[in-house]
Amino acid sequence: METRCCLGCMKSFHPRPQCPDQKYCSSRSCQQARKRRWHRHKLKTDSAYRENQKAAQQRWSGLHPGYWRDYRAAHADYVARNREQQRQRDHASHLAKMDASIGETSIPSGRYRLTPVQTSDLAKMDAWTVNISVISTVCAHTP
Ligand SMILES: [Zn+2]
Repeated sequence: METRCCLGCMKSFHPRPQCPDQKYCSSRSCQQARKRRWHRHKLKTDSAYRENQKAAQQRWSGLHPGYWRDYRAAHADYVARNREQQRQRDHASHLAKMDASIGETSIPSGRYRLTPVQTSDLAKMDAWTVNISVISTVCAHTP
């Protein structure tokens, strides 16, 4: 039986035979993460989906005027958490821009194969020139 690494929890799981491309385990939180990711991807890439979502939200808001204003007024913890999450997103975005501006890329954890690049004076070199190719990404936990 095949074992894969879940993109949500990074634990290994057995994909269902009905889902040959399964990338997330069947836990509730990982399935929610998968759906959120799909939704965000769809909003970014599918203008018809984006317009449809916007129209549905506007219809709902029209039927429930003041809902979010009242909700925020009654849930100070929600407002504070949102504010903190936005602050972290702004900070992460700022860091990502800094990384890009100085040309740094982060290499994800995983197993890599180092293959020496053939050069005419390999024996004289005190450092290797290598190609790095991904064998697999790290799976933090096994069941
Ligand atoms: Zn999972």
